[in-house]
Amino acid sequence: HSKILGGNNYKFFTSCMSRSLEERVNLERDLHSALKNDELVLHYQPQIDSQTGHVFGAEALIRWEHPKRGLIPPNQFIPIAEETGLIIPIGEWVLRMACMQAEEWNRKYDHPVHIAVNLSIKQFVNNDIVKTVERTLHETGLDPEILELELTESIFLENTESMISTLNKLQKLGVRISIDDFGTGYSSLSYLKDLPIDSIKIDQSFIRDLCENKKTASIISAIITLAKNLDLKSVAEGVETPEQFNYFKMEGCDLVQGYYFSRPLPANQIEALLDRTEWGAGTMNNNFATVK
Ligand code: C2E
Ligand code: MG
Ligand code: MG
Ligand code: MG
Repeated sequence: HSKILGGNNYKFFTSCMSRSLEERVNLERDLHSALKNDELVLHYQPQIDSQTGHVFGAEALIRWEHPKRGLIPPNQFIPIAEETGLIIPIGEWVLRMACMQAEEWNRKYDHPVHIAVNLSIKQFVNNDIVKTVERTLHETGLDPEILELELTESIFLENTESMISTLNKLQKLGVRISIDDFGTGYSSLSYLKDLPIDSIKIDQSFIRDLCENKKTASIISAIITLAKNLDLKSVAEGVETPEQFNYFKMEGCDLVQGYYFSRPLPANQIEALLDRTEWGAGTMNNNFATVK
């Protein structure tokens, strides 16, 4: 037994470790030049008003078009960007691209097309975030009310003076603040009454569990009711089936987002969906949900 664990297994283990370490080092090296090599792209996923069936806007989601590895999802490189500090220039790029795109859409369509942008905690605690947002709005000409900044709930664990002041300054600019992945952050709910928050996005894990677990349905209802009573918008993300869509529509969740409506797509492919006004459960037969 001990012979098995020694020798070969040990070598196998270390070679696996060093391979993933090597991969990580390579990714980090490549990420340094990704921005200037134009390898980063934004995809957009529509957010639909559950009651009217109209498109409310879209969430911008970053991807890395790696010349050798193909499309890399954010979960594989955003953590590296955060550790290396690259998240600051990358985040500024995301914000500028998303605002430019939204401004173009708002000129093109006669209904507002809102844009949601994810901010990492590293960007948020950076002193310049308020200035960066202000400058970006100014340079792109985007109406601040069109922009929503998504912050994961874990950020609110740090209920510090400087965080509260940053949120208040952002709100003064006229942008909206949304809590992403709500229900997973183990934070107290008291921040909901003290901070200038506009909407909450119910975490996908609840939606996935919705049909199997009655208790999950109760939690979701409670979150939607809580949002309503606090005058916050509620958003369901990760909606994949007509049953899930109907559930959120019935419960009065304001916005829905997920593969059932569309996967995140490049800007030119999402445009066909932005004009669409009928996102009803019965009208989804020739939908775009299967577009990869
Ligand atoms: P998130 O902000 O919670 O985004 C939702 C994620 O769920 C996205 O994954 C989206 O593609 C995926 N999704 C949407 N609908 C469905 C569905 O119906 N089913 C399933 N299974 N998944 C669905 P994605 O694009 O891989 O992004 C992952 C995370 O990476 C995001 O989670 C966000 O936290 C982060 N991220 C993405 N773009 C950026 C960015 O520009 N900046 C920062 N700081 N983080 C970003
Ligand atoms: Mg998000
Ligand atoms: Mg998230
Ligand atoms: Mg989320």
